Amino acid sequence: ETDRLRLPPWLKREIPLGKNYNKLKADLRGLNLHTVCEEARCPNIGECWGGNEDNVATATIMYCVSQLMGDTCTRGCRFCSVKTARKPPPLDPEEPVNTATAIAKWGLNYVVLTSVDRDDIPDGGSSHFAETVNELKRQNSSILVECLVPDFRGDKDCVATISNSNLDVFAHNIETVEALTPRVRDPRAKYRQSMGVLEHAKTVKADLVTKSSIMLGLGETDDEILQTMKDLRTAGVECVTLGQYMQPTKRHLRVTEYVTPDKYQHWEEVGKSLGFVYTASGPLVRSSYKAGEFFLKNLLT
Ligand code: SF4
Ligand code: SF4
Repeated sequence: ETDRLRLPPWLKREIPLGKNYNKLKADLRGLNLHTVCEEARCPNIGECWGGNEDNVATATIMYCVSQLMGDTCTRGCRFCSVKTARKPPPLDPEEPVNTATAIAKWGLNYVVLTSVDRDDIPDGGSSHFAETVNELKRQNSSILVECLVPDFRGDKDCVATISNSNLDVFAHNIETVEALTPRVRDPRAKYRQSMGVLEHAKTVKADLVTKSSIMLGLGETDDEILQTMKDLRTAGVECVTLGQYMQPTKRHLRVTEYVTPDKYQHWEEVGKSLGFVYTASGPLVRSSYKAGEFFLKNLLT
């Protein structure tokens, strides 16, 4: 208790929950859909879900993160607050269509589809994912779709299934540096395996944009962060986000450091110099934070 770090001022913020937030939440519950924003208790939920009234009014960039395959994961990463079970309930076969219909109805122009890991399903849920993307594009051909996917235990066929769906951005999070991976992520997740997934996604479809994310404040060194960024570039990754790890409950890994905003600025510059086309780095940056903004304006238009 006593050695827990105090929250620095740059991480203290009000969470404004606008009208749009309540509407999205109600729709989601009605359709039995889940979002990672809620499951992971993301501090940006008010902002991303339209707490920012300007954003809603102009409706130029509106997106949401929808979590597929239920709210229970077969893995237990030590930074993550998602529920865990060895055998979660079976997939809802209606989910791809329900998700697509809800998203199409909200008039979003960018969506991030993510999921829990389902090691209990032979294809890891990759075809379920692909079906959702294809249905979504069928209902709204102009929406841009980012998929934040599991590692599928490195299974290349599963990665190819995702790459060959109609998605625009393939995201898989490396989460942390190589040395900390066994302590931070579930033992089935491996640093090199995740690099391989990112690399293979691009091998299958060269024009896919690939993206990954690193959490800071888990005890990694600067050299290790730099090496991870270089490894991502070697795997062909074009977009990277860096953000502060926040301990979700007492049972999760402790924060070893609150990295300063200046330091995040430094990593943003490093990202540019390494040739990432997009680097988002800041204490509150999450892998999907304001995801659409950059892509809608730059990469995909
Ligand atoms: Fe959801 Fe990502 Fe925004 Fe957090 S940062 S609320 S997870 S979209
Ligand atoms: Fe959380 Fe790990 Fe499951 Fe992803 S794989 S939802 S990070 S427990």
